[in-house]
Amino acid sequence: MYNPVLTFDIEEWFHPVLLGASERGEQKPRAREVLLWLLDLLDERKVKATFFVLGETLELYPDLFGRIASSGHELACHGFTHKPLWHQTSESFRAELRLFKDRFTTMLPGVVLRGFRASTFSLEQKTAWAADVLESEGFLYDSSIFPYRNHVYGVPRAELSPYRLSSNDVAQDAPGGRLLELPMPVLNFGRIRIPFVGGFYSRVLPLKLQVFLIRRTLKLRPVILYFHPWEFDPGVPRVPSGKLNEWITYTGIEKMRGRLEYLLQKFDFMTAWELVQVCERSRPSC
Ligand SMILES: [Zn+2]
Repeated sequence: MYNPVLTFDIEEWFHPVLLGASERGEQKPRAREVLLWLLDLLDERKVKATFFVLGETLELYPDLFGRIASSGHELACHGFTHKPLWHQTSESFRAELRLFKDRFTTMLPGVVLRGFRASTFSLEQKTAWAADVLESEGFLYDSSIFPYRNHVYGVPRAELSPYRLSSNDVAQDAPGGRLLELPMPVLNFGRIRIPFVGGFYSRVLPLKLQVFLIRRTLKLRPVILYFHPWEFDPGVPRVPSGKLNEWITYTGIEKMRGRLEYLLQKFDFMTAWELVQVCERSRPSC
């Protein structure tokens, strides 16, 4: 039995790709208040989490990232810009990672960077080159693969438990590979896979059902939860982006602080790096 992994992708409300807000010049940051609330809550509950930080937010909150590190949370990389891998090349991606590492080590000397999560879960077969870039830039694990497919992202037949990632085929375990993939959780019914927790799914599905499904899945494999600061911000600016995109982005936000507090009551959590270490100890399966 595992503990679920708690992760946050630290980006601003204008970064989600569905909105296209960044392209329209929307850039007034507002994550500070949410981050303060979140860090106080995690301190109070004595929970450690992994924060995948976007490079563009690093310089906005240097004091808060220092606090995140000194509180014992894990800091990891969510890229520098929020441009999905679909719109990058291996060269531009490598340049982003190097820029991130440069700013990160200057701001947070001594803090070790081990993990990565791609914008919009954009690591898939056509962007498999990113696995080679991550490995050669010294990353030890990735948590970007959603093992199902929707209209935007996903790798429909990817492994469900942590596995070794290779650019040859990002869906299958690559024995001998050095980069460990921590895929997002889904329910698995033969060929049908359904996400049930994290981000949008945690905003729309009944909370008690999520708790039940997390417990059930943890008996089989790890469960990685992901959230964004703007999902806990009831005053988040609403960007006109079409009915479907607006529903996906904003539905349920007003309930999310309470939902996270409830999940923190129900489970003991671990960081992504702690899960990687558990997997290393229990190889070949995790
Ligand atoms: Zn993101």
